[in-house]
Amino acid sequence: MRRGRLEMIIGPMYSGKTEEMIRRITRRNIAKQNGLILKPSMETRDGKFLKSRSGMILEAIPVKDSSEVLDLVKKGRYDYVALDEIQFFDDGIVDVIEEIVNMGVSVIGSGLNLDFKGEPFNNVSRLAMKADELTLLKAVCVICGRDATRTQRLVMVNGEWRPASKKDSTILVEGSMENVRYEPRCRDCWVIEE
Ligand SMILES: [Zn+2]
Repeated sequence: MRRGRLEMIIGPMYSGKTEEMIRRITRRNIAKQNGLILKPSMETRDGKFLKSRSGMILEAIPVKDSSEVLDLVKKGRYDYVALDEIQFFDDGIVDVIEEIVNMGVSVIGSGLNLDFKGEPFNNVSRLAMKADELTLLKAVCVICGRDATRTQRLVMVNGEWRPASKKDSTILVEGSMENVRYEPRCRDCWVIEE
């Protein structure tokens, strides 16, 4: 039996990761492949859908952790599994994806390349290095217009948006906190407070 392949799509926020994911899923669906599309239930903004910022939309099943991913994959017969926003999963997702690929099922994964502190996520970075195909997407820096590879977190302090601090916690879902927002920036325009 042939093993599956692992494709990873990484990049900062607003780089079009979900759009690229939807494009690859659509191609496979045209080729009559049977897929399972999953997303972390922690990401509540788009509910049971993958939504690109350009308006593309696909149904997805929210899952709470990596063991639920494995259970769902084992229940069906799939050609591929798509997993969005991998940084929201536990680190067990790395071994789970390896197991899925060894079962002959291909995996398309997407996730943030770096957190707002400029550090890689353990699970996403390990999967990126294990991938058969790795795509780094870039956004447009909101400050200077060059390619953006980083995600800037801003926090509202006394009515003013300020760069977040290194001491702040890494995972917060956009929209879940009204005083936090994110934007893509290049390396030069990206700022982190000590
Ligand atoms: Zn810039």
